[in-house]
Parts: sequence; C-alpha cells; structure tokens
Amino acid sequence: MVTIKSKREIELMREAGRVAYLAQKEIEKAIKPGISTFELDKIAETVIRACGGIPAEKGYPSGIKGVPDFPGSICSSINDEVIHGIPSKKAILKDGDIISIDLVAYKNGYNGDCARTYIVGNVSKETKRLVEVTKQAFFEGIKFAKKGNRLGDISHAIGSFIEENGYSVVREFQGHGIGTKMHEDPGIPNYGKPGRGIRLEPGMTLAIEPMVIMGKPGILELDDGWTIITQDGSLSAHYENTILITEKEPEILTII
Ligand code: MG
Repeated sequence: MVTIKSKREIELMREAGRVAYLAQKEIEKAIKPGISTFELDKIAETVIRACGGIPAEKGYPSGIKGVPDFPGSICSSINDEVIHGIPSKKAILKDGDIISIDLVAYKNGYNGDCARTYIVGNVSKETKRLVEVTKQAFFEGIKFAKKGNRLGDISHAIGSFIEENGYSVVREFQGHGIGTKMHEDPGIPNYGKPGRGIRLEPGMTLAIEPMVIMGKPGILELDDGWTIITQDGSLSAHYENTILITEKEPEILTII
C-alpha cells in the first residue's frame, strides 16, 4: 500500500531528511585518501545521534539465516562495489577511488534516505563522468515526479538517460516508498515504460536512487551476505534522495 503523508507527517519527513543530508555533508568533508570507511561510519552515526536521530541501517535485518544484521550506520561501497558495502577499518580510501555512501536517518518515527558517490583525490575523466551521469539520472527522473504522472515515467527517464550515456542500469535493486518504514510501497525500478505504474499523488514520499554500472549489466553478492559488486569488475555509482510529490514541483527532502 502506498501511503499518503499528512501535513504533520511531511514535517517529520523533512526533519528526518535534513538529518540524513547533514550526515552526508560531514562525510563529504572527510573524504580523502587514507580515511577508512569505519571512520566515515562513525562520522555519520555521530551527526545523526547529535541531531536526535538513529542511524536506521544499523541492525537492519538481513532476513537470511547465517547472515548477521547490518553492522554499520552507513553502507560504504568502493569502486566496483555497487551497494551495501560494510564499513571496515580495513577499507581505506586511496587516491583515484570512488565511494558510494548510502545512509538513512530515523527520527521521530520517520526516515530520510540519501546516497552519494564521492570521488577520492584525483580520478580519471571517465570515472568522473560516471559519477556525474548517475547524479544527473536522478534529476532526469524527478522531472517527471509530478502529480498525475505515472511511476513508470520516472523509471523510464532514469533508465533511458543512463543507457543513452553508454552505461548499464542495476536492475536487481530499486528505489522505494519511504516513511515510518525505510522501505515502503511502491518499488521504483530504474528502468521501465512511460505511462505505466501507479499515478503520483501529493503526499507520496519516494526514495529515488539510480544505481549505475560503467560496464556490462550484472551483479554478484560477496560471501559477507551484504556487499553487492559488479559482475564485470567495472565501477559503479549511486545517487539517491528522498522526495515529496506536491501539487507542483517535487520537493527534495534530503537536500537543504
Ligand atoms: Mg538509501
């Protein structure tokens, strides 16, 4: 069921979004060669808790027997890691890397979810382009995030932009509704047909998140039960915001 948020709930979503945004800002400042993803995790957790929130990814159930619940406050995925990388003291950023940070702040019963791919030091022109196209894919998608449009209009805009730029869409994971739960209906694929899917209504809050592979499509899961990598070993990037459907233009809740 797709929930429509009340005025009061929208205020709470804005606050959760603000906290998630602030955590990303502090991470952005700290990104440099030599820092570990464990340290980035601590930065996010500190910011979120200082704002009265809880890092919602910490303890997120794997749902799979033998796979521990997610141990981090962020997902930190380096280079060919797509999503769900586990923060670690051993994962140290090097010049030329890219790193995707996906985090969720939970506050007063509501969630704010956003992801960014950061470049570390000096990266190649090709790598930079991947990161930029991934971010732009989000903005291409939300041009259609308007009352009366269909969900498939967003999905199609994202997917076609990614493919026109010569990259591959991650099809195995998708965006999602968000609210009191991190993952709500509807699922939002990063590909699809225009004119299909549910009609967008004011009060819907959606996490839109293009996940892009530089090379061929296809992913693998590491033995840790969490980390998703590209099958062909090429780089991957991710960009996400929580948005609100309004009477007019969408409001981005995780950019302030
Ligand atoms: Mg996320």
